[in-house]
Amino acid sequence: MVNESMLKLGTNRSCIRELFEYGLRQAAIVGKENVFDYSLGNPSIPAPPEVNETLVDIVRNTDSLAVHGYTPAPGLPAAREAIAAELSERYGVRIRGANIFLTCGAAPALIAVIRALNMGGSEIVAIAPFFPEYRPFAESNGAKLVVVPADVPSFQINWPELEARLNERTQAVIVNTPNNPSGVIYTRETLERLAALLEKKSAEVGHPIFLIADEPYRELAYDGAEVPFIPTVYPNTIVCYSYSKSLSLPGERIGYICVPDWVEDSATVFAAIAGAARASGHVCAPALQQRVVALCAHSRPNVRAYDENRALLYEQLSAFGYDCVKPNGAFYMFVKAPGGDSQAFSDRAKEKNLLIVPGGDFGVPEYFRICTCVSKDMILRSLPAFKALIEE
Ligand code: PLP
Repeated sequence: MVNESMLKLGTNRSCIRELFEYGLRQAAIVGKENVFDYSLGNPSIPAPPEVNETLVDIVRNTDSLAVHGYTPAPGLPAAREAIAAELSERYGVRIRGANIFLTCGAAPALIAVIRALNMGGSEIVAIAPFFPEYRPFAESNGAKLVVVPADVPSFQINWPELEARLNERTQAVIVNTPNNPSGVIYTRETLERLAALLEKKSAEVGHPIFLIADEPYRELAYDGAEVPFIPTVYPNTIVCYSYSKSLSLPGERIGYICVPDWVEDSATVFAAIAGAARASGHVCAPALQQRVVALCAHSRPNVRAYDENRALLYEQLSAFGYDCVKPNGAFYMFVKAPGGDSQAFSDRAKEKNLLIVPGGDFGVPEYFRICTCVSKDMILRSLPAFKALIEE
């Protein structure tokens, strides 16, 4: 009666959502202060003040019909130009408004790009640990997701495993740096080596292998770590950006795709992405948020709270004996599960109302993820539970 794979996607809850909702139920029983919820990557710092002020100002002072009306499918010219100007200035490149397609966040951006590139059964390569939604994004659009095992413990790239998975069916490799769930940023050296490999393989297979840069965490970097702009390292890069985390606007659904002019057959790729967005019903991103972005393209988050949480959790958990991957970006930390089975460890933690996400869905079952976008108070209250678990 209905599509089986869609039914499965709609009924099999994501493990993160399950944990989050379990936390809400437990809070009603044991009290909110006794539940330590590290499950969901929801920003815990407010949007920069100028973002809210701009939003209010637009609603107050612009004609209502104009504010809430349809925009052109790829977005308002003012928003496209503002994003292009910000990227050009920041990275010393020439990006034009015509290279930008506004989307409802990174998720529909990724779907549009995968859909546009898929030639029917094409392979899209993801590097573990990876955002689990890549799988439905690829598979529901007729592409195949091919996973490269993680490079443990550095969480850069496992080169022989990647190279072994590139072939004539490979249309793209997705990279997500700063990474969810590891918090690791790919170094410039890693990206240059990746570019050289993809250039070599593209020449071998006779068509470009694109890089899809999934970048919701571009602005979240610590200790002065560099987040290279990948299109300047590998020309055939398509960027999927989101303001969900960078401006703490996840519910507003706003982001963009950038296809620079120097991408091979850039105009054709852009047009296919526009077609894929159209076929998915994802054109004309939220108009009010487009207007906000047009005026706040230069806004940056104050990441101090994430940075402090990261330092606190890394120090404390390491002192208890946990083997933590040191995060220098995003707002996650990846930790090796004592005993090696993160699902079993997460189940044990749940008994102490400590909600941590097992790494199986990210492609690394020996590690678990904790979100550092939480309150410092909660971290302090949760430390005895972390200590007890490793001592048990
Ligand atoms: N990609 C990664 C790696 C993410 O972590 C997320 C959200 O958590 C997304 C994409 C989707 O972001 P958006 O909310 O902009 O759709």
